[in-house]
Amino acid sequence: MKGKLLIIGFGPGSFEHITKRAKEAIEESDVVIGYNTYVDLISGLLTGQQIVRTGMTEEVSRAQEAVRQAEAGKKVAVISSGDAGVYGMAGLVYEVLIEKGWTEATGVEVEVIPGISAINSCASLLGAPVMHDACTISLSDHLTPWEIIAKRIEAAGAADFVVALYNPRSGRRTRQIVEAQRILLKYRSPDTPVGIVKSAYRDREQVVITTLEQMLDHDIGMLTTVIIGNSATFLYDEKMITPRGYQRKYTLTADEQALKPHQRLKPEAEPWALPQFEEEAPRAANNRTAAELRPAAADFQTSAGLQAAAADIQTSAEIRPAASDTRSAAAVRTAAAKPSSYELAMEALLLVQGSRGDEVNHTPFASPLFQQQSIFEVAVSPGVANKRFTPAQMMLMAELAGESGEIEYTPHHQIILRVPTTEPKQITAKLQEEGLLLAPIGDVVQLKACDFCNGEKDDSIPYAEELYQRLNGRSAPKELRIGFNGCGMTCYGAVKEDIGIVYRRGKFDLFLGAKTVGRNAHSGQPVAEGIEPEALVETVERIVNRYITDGFPNERFHKYFKRVKQVEGFEHREVPVLVIDNAVCGD
Ligand code: SAH
Repeated sequence: MKGKLLIIGFGPGSFEHITKRAKEAIEESDVVIGYNTYVDLISGLLTGQQIVRTGMTEEVSRAQEAVRQAEAGKKVAVISSGDAGVYGMAGLVYEVLIEKGWTEATGVEVEVIPGISAINSCASLLGAPVMHDACTISLSDHLTPWEIIAKRIEAAGAADFVVALYNPRSGRRTRQIVEAQRILLKYRSPDTPVGIVKSAYRDREQVVITTLEQMLDHDIGMLTTVIIGNSATFLYDEKMITPRGYQRKYTLTADEQALKPHQRLKPEAEPWALPQFEEEAPRAANNRTAAELRPAAADFQTSAGLQAAAADIQTSAEIRPAASDTRSAAAVRTAAAKPSSYELAMEALLLVQGSRGDEVNHTPFASPLFQQQSIFEVAVSPGVANKRFTPAQMMLMAELAGESGEIEYTPHHQIILRVPTTEPKQITAKLQEEGLLLAPIGDVVQLKACDFCNGEKDDSIPYAEELYQRLNGRSAPKELRIGFNGCGMTCYGAVKEDIGIVYRRGKFDLFLGAKTVGRNAHSGQPVAEGIEPEALVETVERIVNRYITDGFPNERFHKYFKRVKQVEGFEHREVPVLVIDNAVCGD
């Protein structure tokens, strides 16, 4: 009769954290082989099996003994703490088997039973420190040359991995953890949160949360796992949390920047992402991707400027991560000396809105980070009615964009300035000093007015300005453009915007729901003529409010209008579908 090898990870050490299959496997075995402490830990599961206890360093003889007994026809349980495949017995048993020419078809049966490894059990006691890309490094140089271990620590530090250090220190091996700390400090802030867990889910469990700088002041031994956060890991209520991602760019919108899934997948929300060359979907102008820029650069070989722009986008991968997923921002309260990027973004918002801090009561998202750069992105225009930039304004924008920033002109007559910075407030202050008008971009309300024939047809300018004050920059389900033109010529194309307003003979005409792209593009429907000036701002505001309240996330205004059929009393009419005949030529 053939024997069987059951290679079992029994988890951190408590009965509740052993899997059902691991328990069954121990019960069904004839022989249990393991390190003394481990046999003691699972003694409650033993039902008269033969026990082969060995000392810590006799792993090879343990594996050989297990194979021998299995070959003699026994069911042999080889036990490891945590997972047997993580610095455990699984690999060693296979090595012994391979040495003997074992194959699955001809040799003894082998079953590897997974268990909860220390990285997981210890992480659970610390909060959620792993969460993002992480690695385990054993500091034991008993079987691995120290140079290799040091290289791995170096690489993990440089690549911003969360690091779980196994076998961090023993009675004799005390220098390794000191070296590991030194290497990681080259890449991470001394304030980086560190969790030290000793004997997780065992009787003498100890959990300490400290920092990279101070970690050596605490007890670290062979029963300890040390988890070092990445640059975005933060502390909250004595828990160590690593966010799921890194900070997006700053925006100037007043909400909490709760990135919905569809928003997260936008290029401007992920400035570090690799450009997707295959992408086919048409993009709104200010969603232009690096992918679109790069071919452009290639086409215009002589255009050094464009090439530089493409190169800059690529280097945005270097933008250092910041405090991460801001959805949790409002909930997080920790004390930190340095302002987070979220905090800076809120400051920038206050500057742009000219409002006071007490209106914005989001608690800053604090993280023990270095000051880190993010892309600060803002729409810049010379004014609501004024469409002329002065040379000084152009020079200021160029200066602020510098070598690594970007200035983009969009089909919507917008100039977008993108600057990697940790100081958005300085940028907004300078732009405003030069008389420029700033507005957030993204899913916000945007007012686009004409130039009122260089200010000659200026009767309606005050209404445009009031609408701008009240609505521009407000968060919306999707970007919402309001076109405002000062005469019936509508040469700035108000009727081609989501909401079109045209001033004519002292009153306003209103157009709703244009669809500007696609083969079935159409202008906005004329829904009202001759709106009294006093009623205009309030009417448009009601429509916008209704859309903000009732629009689905990501639903464009024309789709919303079509779905709800009437908005604030203005009826939607179906756009007639034109049937186009096949081309007459050809056959
Ligand atoms: N196979 C095990 C690892 C064995 S190496 C696993 O997957 O977890 C031994 C190291 O594991 C220890 O030095 C310690 O760093 C870690 N370790 C194992 N069990 C632990 C526990 N209960 N608490 C803390 N660390 C533990």
